[in-house]
Amino acid sequence: MAPPMSAGIFLDRLREEGITVVEVGDWEHHNRNHKGPWGPVYGVMIHHTATSGSERTVEICREGYTDLPGPLCHGVITKDGALHIVGYGRANHAGLGDDDVLRAVIAEKALPHDNEADTDGNRHFYGFECENLGDGEDPWPEAQLETIEKVSAAICRHHGWTERSVIGHLEWQPGKVDPRGFTMNSLRERVRDRLK
Ligand SMILES: [Zn+2]
Repeated sequence: MAPPMSAGIFLDRLREEGITVVEVGDWEHHNRNHKGPWGPVYGVMIHHTATSGSERTVEICREGYTDLPGPLCHGVITKDGALHIVGYGRANHAGLGDDDVLRAVIAEKALPHDNEADTDGNRHFYGFECENLGDGEDPWPEAQLETIEKVSAAICRHHGWTERSVIGHLEWQPGKVDPRGFTMNSLRERVRDRLK
C-alpha cells in the first residue's frame, strides 16, 4: 500500500531527476478529489494528447472538457521536454480499466491483455499526458522521450517500484491506443536502465 506523495515531495522528486518543471496555476490544489478517492497509488500511466501546440495542449489538460473536467493528468510533457504540472490528486486520465492489469502492476509481473473496464484507474495511477497527435507519424523528439523516462523513474524510485509499474493507457483500458509512436516495452527498458 503506497500513499501518494505530497505535492511538495512530488515536485522535489521531479526536480531531483533533472527535469525542467513548469508549475501551472494552483496545481497543488487542482484535482478531482471531491469525486472519488486518490490512492493508494500503484503505478505511472503514460498517454498522448492527440493535440498539437504546447500552450493549447497544457491548457486543455488543465481545464479539460465540458463532459470531462480537468485536470486530465498530473503533468503534461511537451515536445521540448518540459514537464508542466497542471494538477495534483485525483485526475481524469485513466478511466475504468482492467482489474487483472492492476493486479499485475501491483505484483510487477507481465501484463495480461486488457479486456475489462471494471476498475477505477484515476485512484491508483500518476498520469502524464504527452503532446503528440497520436497518428503514428507525429515524431517523438528525444528530449520528450527523455522526460517521460525521467518522470517515470523519479516516481518509481520514490516508491521503490521497478519499471514494470509504468504502463500505457493502451495497456489499461480496452479501446485506447495511447501512447502511439513508441512502445511501452522500449520505455520500460529505459526506465529500468535509469533506475540501475
Ligand atoms: Zn490516455
